[in-house]
Amino acid sequence: MSKPLIVVVEDETDIQDIITYNLKREGYDVLTASRGDQGLSLIQAKNPDLVILDIMLPGIDGLTICQQLRASPKTKALPIIILSAKEEESDIVIGLGLGADDYIPKPFSPRELLARVKAVLRRSFAQKSQAQDQDQIRRGDLIIDIDRHQAIHQGTALKLTATEFKLLLVLASHPGRAFSREQLLNRVVGDAVVVVDRNIDVHIRSVRKKLGAQTGLIETVRGVGYRFADQR
Ligand code: CA
Repeated sequence: MSKPLIVVVEDETDIQDIITYNLKREGYDVLTASRGDQGLSLIQAKNPDLVILDIMLPGIDGLTICQQLRASPKTKALPIIILSAKEEESDIVIGLGLGADDYIPKPFSPRELLARVKAVLRRSFAQKSQAQDQDQIRRGDLIIDIDRHQAIHQGTALKLTATEFKLLLVLASHPGRAFSREQLLNRVVGDAVVVVDRNIDVHIRSVRKKLGAQTGLIETVRGVGYRFADQR
């Protein structure tokens, strides 16, 4: 695993230096910006694992940066720690309200800084791996593991071709929704470079057989195509 990348946006050079020194010593990759606008561009360009953000900054202030990061789908979940002097406590409250994960009051000790950074990164990685676990679709006895490209039915791994797997995935991702043969073909062939049999019925027949013909998981929609049974 590569080192976590942390972007530090802080205009006071000595504080920026202390943070950078301590983070690097702890094994993190660090990039810095002294202006808010530069910081925002840097974050958007580098997509770091964590941002340490001062509030009072030239260009754009930290609270606005925080708000903009939360508003963008790409950086919506990016961990943010805001830095603030004690007399700016109300800014901390606003910052947390805008979605910052934590704050560090200035002045701070390196130990305090590292403890907060580690805690926020740990929470963030835990959330990410939880999200990855959801790369799995469960429909009754059927589990489709998207990462592993594997479908398991009643505890047995199905020996599906790549086309059959995609077909089952498309259908099972939208239970109850009818797909035309053409829609299914487009989704299955989509980015594939391999030549597949363009007759969807052939693939469906094969998937049904592998699922066990009696399961009824894939229903025929007369005159349209197919749908995955809505079991709710
Ligand atoms: Ca400042």
